[in-house]
Amino acid sequence: MINLRKYRQHLLTSAAAALLSVSAAAAPVNAASFMSAPPTPVSTGRLGTLLAGLVRCGVAPTEEVKTAASDPLTRTGFFFDTVITISLYDTDDETILDACDALMLECENRLSRTRENSDIWNINHAKGKPVEVSEETISLIQSAIKYCELSDGAFDITIAPVVSLWDFHMENDPAVPDADAIAEAVTHVDYTMIEIDDEKHTVALKDPEAGIDLGAIAKGYISDLLKEEILKHGSESALINLGGNVLAVGTKPDGSSWNIGIRRPFAESAYDLIAKVAVDDMSVITSGTYERYFEQDGVLYHHILDPFTGYSVNNGLTSVTILSKAGTDGDALSTTCFVLGPDKGMELIESLDGIEAMFVADDLTISYSSGWPQ
Ligand code: ADP
Ligand code: MG
Repeated sequence: MINLRKYRQHLLTSAAAALLSVSAAAAPVNAASFMSAPPTPVSTGRLGTLLAGLVRCGVAPTEEVKTAASDPLTRTGFFFDTVITISLYDTDDETILDACDALMLECENRLSRTRENSDIWNINHAKGKPVEVSEETISLIQSAIKYCELSDGAFDITIAPVVSLWDFHMENDPAVPDADAIAEAVTHVDYTMIEIDDEKHTVALKDPEAGIDLGAIAKGYISDLLKEEILKHGSESALINLGGNVLAVGTKPDGSSWNIGIRRPFAESAYDLIAKVAVDDMSVITSGTYERYFEQDGVLYHHILDPFTGYSVNNGLTSVTILSKAGTDGDALSTTCFVLGPDKGMELIESLDGIEAMFVADDLTISYSSGWPQ
C-alpha cells in the first residue's frame, strides 16, 4: 500500500521533473550534467520547503526566483493539486507572473469539481436543473464532448461519480472501492446526458446522479489560457509546466528549439528520462499509470479509469505522450489514447492532423506515431 509519505515524495519528484524540463530546455545540458551541477533557479531543498507549506494549505501563493541575468524569470505554485512552474525567458516583468497566478486561481475557482460554487460544482449539485455558467466553461465542456464523441465514450467527462469513489490523492489509506458501488456509479457515466443551452449559457445533466470531472482536460486548457496571457503581455519565449505537462511558448530567446524531457515511468529519480523531444511552440503532455496510483494485493490501481467498468485501465500501456499545438487537445488526447489502448489509440493519432504521440508499454518499449520528431 502506498502511503501519504510516499505520495508527497512523488509530488516532490514530479516537481523536480518539472524543473528538469525547464533546465533541460534552458541549456544544452543532459540529465547527468544537470544532476551534478543543477542550474535550476529553485533548489530542490527550497522546493521541498515550499511544497511542505503548499501541501498543508492546498492552494498557496507562489514564489519567484531570478538568480542571474541569463536565467528565466520563474515562479512555482500549487494549483489544481499540481505543482506548476512558469518560466519566462525574454522578460523581467513579474506582473506577467502575477497575471498568470490570478488566471490560475480564477480557473480553479471556476472548474474544480470539489470547490463549492465553482461552475462544475454547481452543475453537479443542481439535481438535473440547468445552471448558468461562464461562456468559457461552456466552450471547454464543448471541446471535451468532442473527445467523448471521437472516442465513443472511452474519454467521458461525466466520470465524476466513479472518480469520487476512488482516492488517488492518498488523503487516507486508499483502498479499492466496493464493487457494487462501482457498478452503480458507471450507470451514471454518459456524456450524452450533458445538455447545453448556448444562448442561455446553461448546462444541465439529464441524469441528476451524473457529474462532470474535467481532470483529464483542464490542465491542458489552462496551459493554453496561460500562453494567451503571456503573449498578451509581450513575452514570446516561455515554458509553462503543469506537473510535468509542458506547453512551450515560441522558441528559446536565441531562436533554437526547446528540449523537453519525458520522465521514465516509475523511475526513482526525476532526472531519469525515457525520451527527449525538441519542440517549438508546442504542447507536450503525458498521461501515465505512475502519476497517481496505489497498490493493493499486488495490483496497481491508477487514476485513468475505464468509463465502462469503473476500474483503472489495464491494457499494457504505462504512458501516452501527445505533441500538439494546443494543450487542451494534448491533455484530452493523452487520456483518450490511454483508455483506447495501443492499437486504437495510435489509429486515432494517425487520423488527426498536427498531432503526434509516443506510447510507452508496461515493458517500457516505445511506439511513435509516424510524424514524431526523431
Ligand atoms: P493527469 O491529471 O495526471 O495529467 P490525465 O490528464 O490522464 O492525468 O487525467 C486523469 C484524470 O482525468 C483523472 O484523475 C480523472 O479525474 C479523469 N479521468 C479518469 N479517467 C477518465 C476517462 N476515461 N475520461 C475522462 N476523464 C477521466
Ligand atoms: Mg489528460
